[in-house]
Amino acid sequence: MPLKEELLSANAAHAAGFTNAELAAPPTRKVAIVTCMDARLDPARFLGLAVGDAHVIRNAGGLVTDDALRSLAISHWQLGTREVFVIAHTECGLLTLDAEELRGKLAAAGVDAGDVDFKPFRDLEESVRESVRRVRESQLLPASFEATGFVYDVRTGRLREVR
Ligand code: ZN
Repeated sequence: MPLKEELLSANAAHAAGFTNAELAAPPTRKVAIVTCMDARLDPARFLGLAVGDAHVIRNAGGLVTDDALRSLAISHWQLGTREVFVIAHTECGLLTLDAEELRGKLAAAGVDAGDVDFKPFRDLEESVRESVRRVRESQLLPASFEATGFVYDVRTGRLREVR
């Protein structure tokens, strides 16, 4: 079965047993998570979160980018979250990403990505600290909005706080 049909079939089964029609949009646990798009990470599962509990903002690297700050501002001011957990992970692809090689692939496909910052990093914990700093220093979020950094170990499933 083609992937699209497989996914739509799974969705039909999901809709048939759907019980969340009354869920409200504001996250019940008043928390936002910024984490990596890595397919090995299932933040709802590894944090014990239910549907409706949290905002989960994902991108390559789990970085607090300008767009993540845009989402966090909406999350806080419109939907009442009070804190964010920034969760990077071991063996992240961004640790070894060669931006020049990636630009080369794009160039071979006829695309000039010379001015795209793919935001690779070499120090996982420092990257988490930088993201936490960006939340704390953002004009879009009040000082009372807390930010805590973590690293998720893809080999053990365990979270460790980054100070
Ligand atoms: Zn990653």
